[in-house]
Amino acid sequence: MSIAENLENVRSQIAAAALTSGRSADAVTLVAVSKTWPVETIEEAVAIGQKVFGENKVQEILAKVPAMADDLQWHLIGHLQKNKVRKVLPLCACIHSIDSLELAQQVDRISGELERKASVLVQVNVSCDEAKFGFSPESVRASFDEMLELKHLEIGGLMTVPAFDPDPEKVRPDFARLRELRDALSEKFGVPLTDLSMGMSHDFATAIEEGATLVRIGSSIFGTRDYGSG
Ligand SMILES: *Cc1c(COP(=O)(O)O)cnc(C)c1O
Repeated sequence: MSIAENLENVRSQIAAAALTSGRSADAVTLVAVSKTWPVETIEEAVAIGQKVFGENKVQEILAKVPAMADDLQWHLIGHLQKNKVRKVLPLCACIHSIDSLELAQQVDRISGELERKASVLVQVNVSCDEAKFGFSPESVRASFDEMLELKHLEIGGLMTVPAFDPDPEKVRPDFARLRELRDALSEKFGVPLTDLSMGMSHDFATAIEEGATLVRIGSSIFGTRDYGSG
């Protein structure tokens, strides 16, 4: 299958899942996860209208963004080290991976210096997987008012990467938990928090049924990644 065919398939599955959850297809944004793939491969997706891409490494964003069209949107979906914020911030449309109060403060400070506002999502480790980055549900509740005070952050919602399970039904409770946490924070602090970034290649339909507005899909579009020696 070509990237074009894969993208068409993914888009129609997104539309079907959105319909199941009583929403329209355009209520869900497809973030095509292009990590490890070279510019030429990503161009194939651009050629059939894909504009939003996700990368998990700052190095890859720094290399790819200047080499590609200006009207693409780049989302950082992986852990961000504080000392890399300054370099990557001007290139990102959205940072999904605000995983500590210190990182939120650093992004706010540098956005302020750059006289812009950063669109971000707060990453929550809903399954409390020790190997994963993110706030615990308790710590996000405790830190949320401090994050809302940060004037150069636009917090659009929450993001999660559940512990891997090949069976999407096993992670459905984690997706539901992220949605419930969003609803609770939204009510408590009186902010909309429209976005839920959840769902990957094998479980995005389930995530959409549970309210995802952003799905991060890599291998179903581009194929199996080869991490090589790097
Ligand atoms: C790689 C990655 C994805 C995409 O995973 P696929 O299984 O290839 O769709 C989604 N989210 C994050 C945070 C990732 O690092």
